[in-house]
Amino acid sequence: MLKEGMSLKETADEIASVKGNVKGDAINLHAAYVRKMEGDDGLRKVEEKLKELGYPLEFAKVNKFEWYPIYLADLVILVSKEVFNWSDEDIFRMGKESVKHSFIFRLLLSHTLSVEKLFKSTSYMWKRYFDYGDIEPVKMEEDHILVRMKEYKVHPLVCQHYYPGYFLTLVKICLPDKKITIKETKCFFKGDPYHEYKIEWS
Ligand SMILES: [Zn+2]
Repeated sequence: MLKEGMSLKETADEIASVKGNVKGDAINLHAAYVRKMEGDDGLRKVEEKLKELGYPLEFAKVNKFEWYPIYLADLVILVSKEVFNWSDEDIFRMGKESVKHSFIFRLLLSHTLSVEKLFKSTSYMWKRYFDYGDIEPVKMEEDHILVRMKEYKVHPLVCQHYYPGYFLTLVKICLPDKKITIKETKCFFKGDPYHEYKIEWS
C-alpha cells in the first residue's frame, strides 16, 4: 500500500505492481510538458532519475501508438515533481496543458464541440487510451457533469491533481466562454470504490 512519507524508490516499486497499460501518447505528453517547462536538460534529468530508480525509459523512443505500463507513465509525473520540486498546483497545470497536445484533443476538435457529446463519448475515448478501467458518465445537468473513473489505482497525485487539469481542459474546449471548475468528489485513495469528478461551469 502507498503510504505518506515513502521515498520515490519505494513508491516506484509499489506502483510497478499495478496492472494496466496506456498508449505511448500519454508519455509523450508528459515529455513535451517537461521539455516546455525545463528544457532538454530537464528531460534528461527525468530520464536519469528513472534509470536510477530501475525503470529506464528513453523518451525519444516512445511510440505514441504502442502500449506502455500505466505505472511508468505516472512515474514520469512523480519523478518530474520530485526532480523539479513542482507543487500539486504545478501538476494540475501539467494536466491542463498536456491535453492540448494529445490525439484526444485533436479528435475532439475535429468531431465535436458540444459538452453533451463529450460527456457521451468519455468511455469511447478512455478505451482508445487505456486497456483497463473506464470512465462512466453519471449525470449531466445544465451547469455541471459528473463522471466516474474506475479501476485507476496507481497514485493519488495523478487522480487528484493531473486528471482534474486534464478533464477541465476537455470541458473548456467545449465551453470556451465559461468559467470551469472541477472537484474530485470521491477517490479510491480515500476509500471510495472509484474516483468521481464534478465539473461545473458558470
Ligand atoms: Zn482519486
